[in-house]
Amino acid sequence: MSLQSRSADEIRTLHAEMEQAYAALQQAGLTLDLTRGKPSPDQLDLASALLEEPGQDFRDSAGTDTRNYGGLVGNADLRATFGPLMGVPPEQVVAGDNASLAIMHDLVVFGLLKGVVGSPRPWGEEDEVVFLCPAPGYDRHFAICEQYGITMRAIEMHDDGPDVEAVRREVADPAVKGMWIVPTYANPTGAVVSDEVATALAQMPTAAPDFRIFWDNAYAVHHLTEERTPTADILGLCERAGHGDRPFVLASTSKITFAGSGVSFFGASADNVAWYTGLIGKRTIGPDKVNHLRHARLLPDAEAVHAHMDGHRAILAPKFAAVQEILQDRLGGHDVATWTDPAGGYFVSLDVPDGTASRVVALAKEAGIALTPAGASFPHGHDPRDRNIRIAPSFPSMADLRAAMEGLATCVLLAATEQRLD
Ligand code: PLP
Repeated sequence: MSLQSRSADEIRTLHAEMEQAYAALQQAGLTLDLTRGKPSPDQLDLASALLEEPGQDFRDSAGTDTRNYGGLVGNADLRATFGPLMGVPPEQVVAGDNASLAIMHDLVVFGLLKGVVGSPRPWGEEDEVVFLCPAPGYDRHFAICEQYGITMRAIEMHDDGPDVEAVRREVADPAVKGMWIVPTYANPTGAVVSDEVATALAQMPTAAPDFRIFWDNAYAVHHLTEERTPTADILGLCERAGHGDRPFVLASTSKITFAGSGVSFFGASADNVAWYTGLIGKRTIGPDKVNHLRHARLLPDAEAVHAHMDGHRAILAPKFAAVQEILQDRLGGHDVATWTDPAGGYFVSLDVPDGTASRVVALAKEAGIALTPAGASFPHGHDPRDRNIRIAPSFPSMADLRAAMEGLATCVLLAATEQRLD
């Protein structure tokens, strides 16, 4: 029965039950962590062959000694494998070091200091620079904006991507220079940008001539079902709309191989790539080619990437299923929360009654269950409705995950009944 339709007495009874359950939870002395979307050790083991590579065979397929300087754009075989997965011609892909976040950071800083292709002046010389931030979204995107004084305007995230009408209205403002978007299995909702939304983003007129979409395809191949959901072809759509320089496409192997020692990728128009390599050429003589080579051997083509990801799916899908089962079992009957059931990616996004997310996170913390701070998925860490909680099921063992989810459900019900009794 939904909480709304219960009598005050019934709510008091449920509240007392949850208080008891919560006391038991505190007694249990748990130390559980549902905070960051990290691969578990058994997922990392899938790529342990990397630790044996390249051995003494350190020349790449072109005969280059990977131990030495050079090769700014990265290993050609890897670019040939990942280009099609990113929807970018391999010659317009740059393979970088271990973090696509670092590329995104560079792109923003380069925009501020130098301007991008088509900028009338560096962004930093504008009175105000605005980025559109689909929310809930990835907290580290927002942290980059915060660090450099970029104004963030939240855009509501729907199941098929950001609210296109709102985006259209915003880009009529010339201060709007950029937009974050995770097109496939978004962090944290799992939403996938539809072809219609991608087409609208590609075609829409923007007041800023140098507007950029940061198309962060971190979860492009991270399916949780047998269906390999394709990502909209943003580069092609933008080219056909006459806005070929609009998208910056990002990806990495962080959640394919080793999260801390993977390979990142940047893809874009030929002009954007020339702009980018011109700037990074001052910052580095070249990427870690030894790491590129060992990745090229582990993942020789797109099919190898998909086969490798099937291994991740076998580990992750049961964990995501357990999250659904426990949420449904514990909260489904009370109509107090809604949550996403993603077909890929790393997160489940849970919405609890407005005004209770911070309380739920605090209760969980006191019971030894670490959750991402409430509001973390919103610009400046502020969820205007204080209702969203991001769940990251990948890292804990199944037993820990189940215990943490049961505990979380207790905290949600305790906070919801408290609120109803106030
Ligand atoms: N982009 C998104 C949407 C993410 O969720 C993450 C990690 O959680 C990253 C980027 C980080 O990627 P990388 O490890 O390549 O810096």
